[in-house]
Order: sequence, then structure tokens, then C-alpha cells
Amino acid sequence: MHLSERISRISISTTAAVLHEAERMRAAGVDLADFGAGEPDFKTPENIREAGIRAIREGFTRYTPVGGIPELKEAVCEWHRREFGTAYSPSEVIITAGGKQAIFNTISALINPGDEVLLPVPYWVSFRDIAHYAGGRTVLLPTAEESGYRLRADEVERALTPRTRLLIVNSPNNPSGAVMEPGESRRIVELAAARGIVVMADECYSHFVYDGRPASLGALAGAREHAVVIGSMSKTFAMTGWRIGFALAPAALIEAMVRLQSHTTTNPNSIAQKAAVEALLGPQDAVREMCAEYRRRRDFIVQALRGISGIRCPLPAGSFYAFPNVSRYLSKGGYATPFDLAAALLREARVATVPGEAFGTSEHIRLSYATSMRQIEQGLARMKEFLEATWTTPGRS
Ligand code: PLP
Repeated sequence: MHLSERISRISISTTAAVLHEAERMRAAGVDLADFGAGEPDFKTPENIREAGIRAIREGFTRYTPVGGIPELKEAVCEWHRREFGTAYSPSEVIITAGGKQAIFNTISALINPGDEVLLPVPYWVSFRDIAHYAGGRTVLLPTAEESGYRLRADEVERALTPRTRLLIVNSPNNPSGAVMEPGESRRIVELAAARGIVVMADECYSHFVYDGRPASLGALAGAREHAVVIGSMSKTFAMTGWRIGFALAPAALIEAMVRLQSHTTTNPNSIAQKAAVEALLGPQDAVREMCAEYRRRRDFIVQALRGISGIRCPLPAGSFYAFPNVSRYLSKGGYATPFDLAAALLREARVATVPGEAFGTSEHIRLSYATSMRQIEQGLARMKEFLEATWTTPGRS
């Protein structure tokens, strides 16, 4: 059977091979320290689960409006106003099946074949593949380790061309944990306005920041006209399986996304929408507690990584990932690529990580610390032992 040219532009990410092997080992009963999954290890808070149960009991089980129930759109606007000081109205909101569908809708509604999509590196791989699927050309924009991989407006400005249509920013960042400086975000929105480009700001990790308060690019002057803000219930409220996200954008773009959604998934899950209303308007203690716990884990994991000879790791200011530079083990340790190193770590130290290739880099691995302190302690001890043995015995694998 012939597949379309379009589908051949996207691939299962390089992470899949390592993660499948991890899955196989776990099924075989191997005691694995798993830093692979980008998913909170917390349960969805009880009040939110109860709201879902209530929706089922009340029979709220039918199709809803394509772009989401009015009650949830209002709740998103109110939560966003309360948390970030923005001023969106319901006509500027679409509710989607997770942040990923909001990203897919945005890129599909904006990108023509040949349009350039400016993508800072390291990036979350779906940005690249979705842009390619839409026919866009990704232009990669490296960020520097010395600045903790924070994106700077002057670097963006230098990379703009007359074909640039969209700039993707992701703060707090997956995989680097970088959080953008407010001044840089402001300059980026100004640039977008001046050059007629759109900024898509993925803020799915907004509430996991460890210095200062959560912030949204959507609160900046000009952002309502020139930016799309992507949000998600998945990480903030530990609701990955419920599949609710949203986009905030100018009403004409929202209307285009609703059109697309009406021919793909129709509406987001009705029950999950009710649960999301509770998440946004109910008590927020669980979010603060999760953030405090991630912070504790971040401090431990970064210190432990820095305690391994030859590893460099900037302190991530947000999200729940550490992104150490392991290039010394590639040059001296005898591994050709982060993929090879991650495979050896899995095989020999029983530690699952994601190789940098998945994020457009050839010098890193990613560790998610959305896992228990016990696993973090055990896994880092095993990693240190294995890597330092490699260090003294180059080529061991
Ligand atoms: N954006 C980033 C940067 C992510 O890391 C993820 C999930 O890992 C998502 C968006 C999408 O999450 P969801 O579709 O569950 O909202």
C-alpha cells in the first residue's frame, strides 16, 4: 500500500527504541530506575477525579460544542487572569484533546508549504514533526549552555528571514528546564509584531518554576494579537490521561482551529472537560505541593549529576527535567552518540534516560525527575558507578 508523501515526513522519535527496550526489561522483572517518562508520578488530585465521577453520574456523556463547553472556556480565562494577569475572553479560547492537539491545530492553521518555522534547540520533538507534516521548513536556532539554554531575542532577530511565519518558544522548557527572561519575552513579542510573524508559546509546564512566580507571554503588550499561548491540564494538575489542553489566540485563528477540530476529533472528552473546570477553579494546593516536591528532587538530581566526573548540568529553572551534557563520555568514554550511551546505561546500569537526539542535540541525555526520590537516589548511584568505571576504562560497553 502506498502511503502519502506527507506521512513520510514524520517519524517515531528516536526515544522510542530506548523506551521500548526499557519497557521490555521492566516486563521481564528487571529493577529499572526510569527517568524516561515525561509524566507526573502523582495521581490526579481527588477533587478533580470526583468532578469526573460526578459528570458521569449526571449523564454528562454526550457530544459538546467542538471548541469546548462555555463553562470551561470561562474557567480557562479566569484561571489565566488570576494566575498570570492576562485578559483573554472566551472567543479567544479553544479546548483541545491535550496541549498537543492545540499545537497541531495552531501549526495546521498557520503554515503553508515552504513557510519557515523558527525552532530553538533543544526542542520538544513534536514541534518539529508537526511543522514538517504541515509542509513547513524548520529553521533550527541553537541556544547556549552557558546561558542555561535560555532563548534570547537578539538570536531570534538574527535568524528571521522574509519566509519566517512562526516562532516556537517553550518556557519552562522540555528538555532543558530553561525559563525565559521576561525582558527577552517582551522583545520577542515586539519583534513578532514588527515583522508580522506569530509566536507560539508552549506553557504546558507554566506552574513548575523554581525561582519566582509562574508567568505567561500572553500577559505582555501585543501578545493577544501576535501570539498563541498553549496550555495543558496534563502536567499542572497531573491529568495526562484525561487529555485536556487549550490554546489562547486571536478569535479568527481560534475559529479556524475549531473548523479543523470539527473534522478530526470533534469535541474534547465531555467528562474530562467537567473535571478540568474543577481543576482550574477548585483549590490549588496540590499544584503548589507538586511544585515543592519537584524542586526538592531537582536540587538532589542536579547535585548528584554534577557529582559524576565529566558531567556538566546547568540548574534547570523550571519543568521537571535535567539535561546534562555528557559529551565527555562520548569523546573519551567510547560511545559514538547519546543514543549509544543511553542504550549502555539502560543495559548495564538499568537506568532509563532519553538521548539528546530526540531533542536535536548530540551531547546530552534527558532525565525526568517526575519519579520518586527513592528511584532518583538509586538511579543516580548506579549511573555514577557505571559512568565513572567507563571513564577510567574508555571504550567499555
Ligand atoms: N508541550 C510539551 C513541551 C510537552 O512536553 C508535552 C508533553 O510531554 C506537551 C506539550 C503535550 O502534552 P499534552 O498533550 O498531554 O497536554
